[in-house]
Amino acid sequence: MQIFRELESNVRSYSRAFPCVFNAAKGSHLSDQDGSEYLDFLAGAGTLNYGHNHPTLKTALLDYVQADGIVHGLDMHTQAKAGFLQSLRQYILAPRGLDYKVQFTGPTGTNAVEAAMKLARKVTGRETIVAFTNGFHGVSMGALAATGNQHHRGAAGVTMGGVVRMPYDGYLGAEIDTTVFLDKAIADGSSGVDRPAAVIVETVQGEGGINACSTEWLRNLADVCQKHGVLLIVDDIQAGCGRTGRFFSFEEAGIQPDIVTLSKSLSGYGLPLAVVLFKPELDQWQPGEHNGTFRGHNLAFVTAKAAIDTFWQNTQFAQDVERKGRRLSQRLDQMATRWGRGQFDTKGRGMFQGIDCITGAMASAIARAAFEEGVVIETSGADDQVLKFLCPLTISDAELEDGLNRVEAAMKRVTQGISSWPQREVHFDIATTNQD
Ligand code: PLP
Repeated sequence: MQIFRELESNVRSYSRAFPCVFNAAKGSHLSDQDGSEYLDFLAGAGTLNYGHNHPTLKTALLDYVQADGIVHGLDMHTQAKAGFLQSLRQYILAPRGLDYKVQFTGPTGTNAVEAAMKLARKVTGRETIVAFTNGFHGVSMGALAATGNQHHRGAAGVTMGGVVRMPYDGYLGAEIDTTVFLDKAIADGSSGVDRPAAVIVETVQGEGGINACSTEWLRNLADVCQKHGVLLIVDDIQAGCGRTGRFFSFEEAGIQPDIVTLSKSLSGYGLPLAVVLFKPELDQWQPGEHNGTFRGHNLAFVTAKAAIDTFWQNTQFAQDVERKGRRLSQRLDQMATRWGRGQFDTKGRGMFQGIDCITGAMASAIARAAFEEGVVIETSGADDQVLKFLCPLTISDAELEDGLNRVEAAMKRVTQGISSWPQREVHFDIATTNQD
């Protein structure tokens, strides 16, 4: 631990919540250098939807490396890139009737969001982007302006402009459709809201506390955008790649966003890869106008293609995720009722769910106790008040039950005030914060 404390910046975050040195992982399991085993209910904050080191993806990767395949090629044509694009078109875009061009950006989510916002502004000639309360879109400057969290915004050091904040679904109570206000604000020349270039939205706000919008609200939002000639960007970086069941989280709503961002689980193996998908008429970039050295990495193309070929050739995987999602909600509801006493509420959809513990102190105490029970699980939300269940989608039924039993044991310990935390000698850094 000493090397991390001495050399690694204070900005480190997840490592503070899990004070051990991890050294191996397989499927839904992690192990540390002392031989302790953990079930992974964090999954790289949604990056490991297919688990750690999936054997099929690993074989594809090892074969490619063994054959001296191109690892880095800037954005030049490579066979690996062609393979990825072909699979993306054949198994993801075409079956869903989606006609999108693909832009490779720098490899993290925030790079994709930057490119999406920049393209929307360029194409429309307008500046304003509408983002929502509790939205999280990354921490580079453009994306940070669209991110709501004060902790992250506070580090900007400059005034962030170009973004107008609107209430997300449910923000003003379940009865109020907040798209009505957006519609009015755009239509009214004296609302003070300039006609936006785009609206950027997550269908489930991951970092914002697992707030899932309804399909009706999402449809209404798409209608408002269309009515006013405003582009709709769905940021599917965390909710996409099957996390809510289908490949894209907006499929149930039957909408076709103008722009979609994807990253996290796109490579399927934890290798960094990000893309922006957009309607062909929006492809108004000049060559090299939005640049970057690592725009599409060939190792990530290889595993991304293998992931699509393995999981998305038919609907079986999506159906299985939906089935597990139903079981997850059932268990979380039971847990909240059993240990609740008005303290807990459940939220989310698919395999993207959480327990709202009302206070960050309660959620963090349970997450810490769960770690003692051998589960890696994190919190999210403005006060880190939501316990976030983000296990690999490939988790077995038995592993899922096992992990949930352990989290429930942690809830029991904390709510009954018998948590003997910390049980073993561990040293936590200053208070845990969710900073992805
Ligand atoms: N957008 C969403 C919806 C996210 O959840 C995240 C990260 O959690 C990002 C963007 C930023 O991605 P990255 O951390 O890879 O920059």
